[in-house]
Amino acid sequence: MRKKKLLEHPVRMFREEELSKLPKDKGKPVVIAELFSPGEETVLVLNVYEPKILEQSNYMPSYRIFQSSATYLMQDIKNGRWRGCSWKYMLRACDQLGYFYGYLLPHILDHESEKRIAEYFGKPSEADEAFWLVYRAQGRILARKNERRKRRICEVTKEKMELVPPVGKDFLRWAEEERLYWSRFVFYRYARKKQMRGWCTCCRQEVLIERGTVRHNKKGICPNCKKQVTFIASGRKPRQMTHVAKISKLECADGKILYREFYISKDYGGIFPHTWDFKCTEEMRWYLDAEGRIESYRRCIEYGMVGKWYRSRKTYTKATILYPGGILEAVSKTPYQYCALSDYLKANPREKIYPVGYLQAYQKFPGLEYLVKARLYKIVWDLMELPGRTRNLKTGRDLRTVLEIKTKQEMELVRNNMVGLNDLRNVQKFIAGGVKLTSEELLCCFRLYGADEELLKDNQYLPLKKLTGYLASQVDRFGTGRGCRLDQKPETIENQEIDEHRRFLGLWRDFVRFMEELHYETKNEILFTPYDVHKEHDRLYKEYEDMRNKKKQAEQRRKDRKLKKYLAEEKSLLDGKIENKKFQLVVPESGAEIRREGRLLGHCVGSYTDNVLSGQCQIYFIRKKEEPEKPYYTVEWKKGRIVQCRGKKNCGYNKEMELFLKSAEKKVNRLKKFDEKAA
Ligand SMILES: [Zn+2]
Repeated sequence: MRKKKLLEHPVRMFREEELSKLPKDKGKPVVIAELFSPGEETVLVLNVYEPKILEQSNYMPSYRIFQSSATYLMQDIKNGRWRGCSWKYMLRACDQLGYFYGYLLPHILDHESEKRIAEYFGKPSEADEAFWLVYRAQGRILARKNERRKRRICEVTKEKMELVPPVGKDFLRWAEEERLYWSRFVFYRYARKKQMRGWCTCCRQEVLIERGTVRHNKKGICPNCKKQVTFIASGRKPRQMTHVAKISKLECADGKILYREFYISKDYGGIFPHTWDFKCTEEMRWYLDAEGRIESYRRCIEYGMVGKWYRSRKTYTKATILYPGGILEAVSKTPYQYCALSDYLKANPREKIYPVGYLQAYQKFPGLEYLVKARLYKIVWDLMELPGRTRNLKTGRDLRTVLEIKTKQEMELVRNNMVGLNDLRNVQKFIAGGVKLTSEELLCCFRLYGADEELLKDNQYLPLKKLTGYLASQVDRFGTGRGCRLDQKPETIENQEIDEHRRFLGLWRDFVRFMEELHYETKNEILFTPYDVHKEHDRLYKEYEDMRNKKKQAEQRRKDRKLKKYLAEEKSLLDGKIENKKFQLVVPESGAEIRREGRLLGHCVGSYTDNVLSGQCQIYFIRKKEEPEKPYYTVEWKKGRIVQCRGKKNCGYNKEMELFLKSAEKKVNRLKKFDEKAA
């Protein structure tokens, strides 16, 4: 398909007479299909209109999709751009304009369009919904394109990937035994004898176990290899027992550093002695150059291409455990030679890290080496997690300048490895914000509530130390578990304790807000520590709701008074003047009467009172003459037209009523001296 040729096809405008065919659901884009033959092949043209734009009397389509058997193209009419984007993405583009959420099906305007689409794809028109025909055809085209693309890129990368040697035995042994260090078991067969037979997965030996010395699923020591293992009674082993992990490895590859990431799994079998299947699959390769740039490759998992490598843009991964072997060889003769990564690893074995992030951080900030040698591991970790953080470091020769440390206290924190960069900044922010706590207390505070800036506001009502003490007493008294004080060590605080503290903090914050809104006195600290914050919260909430309801009711009364006055004028103008033999038009008396009508007829006219008051529209009742009090139909008059007429539960009306409405419309306009042209 040639764009130039496609442009010769005239833009199909929406026609005014087609407006009546629009779906009730205003969110749906509307489609009209046409056929067009630019060359030998006929092209299906789908014109997409957006109802919101049609409403503004703009009858241009928003998009045109040209569909041939081999490809498709989309023209964005508004900005004249072409995109190879599918029907699905077109819908998403409409979605961005805020019309609907997700993939709502478009509305195919008329039967001819449906027929054209169906015939184009050679299907009987009733057999399928037209939309899905296009959708599936595009899916097939896209899949073919993707496969071709992938095949092409795999061809390109093949040679380069084959240069990488397979991993060695040492690495595999490390992966199986060291990396999954917690996956060590002694499976034993429970017996009523003095000694039970067992099998250790660590030393791979049969062992004899004294009965009564071990328990199922509990840790212990293997009697043979003396390593820590978990004892599992063979009969109680779960059917599926698989342990997985990610590991990585650094190598050198002609001047660059090669980072390889693997997925490993250990799957324990069904029958005693439960030996296992170990699998190690390489998933990713990154080449890191001297400037810190990454060239990334991934392995296909698609059927038919499993294991082939393709170039990928992804340069993010989770933290992995790095194989300690070969790091020095990998970085030697590169600018990363003195990066001290292996020193870091030695000091923090079995820790998940970001090896590439580490090297990138070093490339941007060579001082990383000294941070590792000074054992400031937390700060190093923050830098390797997001190497961009090196931007926040200042240049200088000593730690104080580089990290912008201002006080002795902060220096202590950094030296003792208690804070990373983030926490250091938070500590500084809170101290500047007037919080009077030691840094240890602050760290405990962050662990409990998160380094949330709202705490600074809380601190103004009640100093954080008192607040925590108070919340702890609430947890002790009314919550589950134990309350925490700020003199605790942050690592010793458990998640459940954190949840409870945050729950009570939430209640307390609401309680304080209600106090403010209700204009209670807020100077005295004692008032902020009620005996039961939950109860006090509920009490104030009720009070607060009452206050809001009162305000709302007063507002409603004021509006109703105004509305009544307005309706009285209307009544004297119209009441009793518009009728025929059967029906009469009645002007409502008050807002309450309009709401009652809505309630009795089961429609939503009650919500129109504000619009009536602002003069946007007018509501009239139509009653049968023999039952003038009984609600029958309700009409909305707007700018000289009766735009809606609704009966019980939004039902429509018959010919008789239609005639009455027509004459009523004229009479209302005459009596109100309404001039349509002036409006
Ligand atoms: Zn053992």
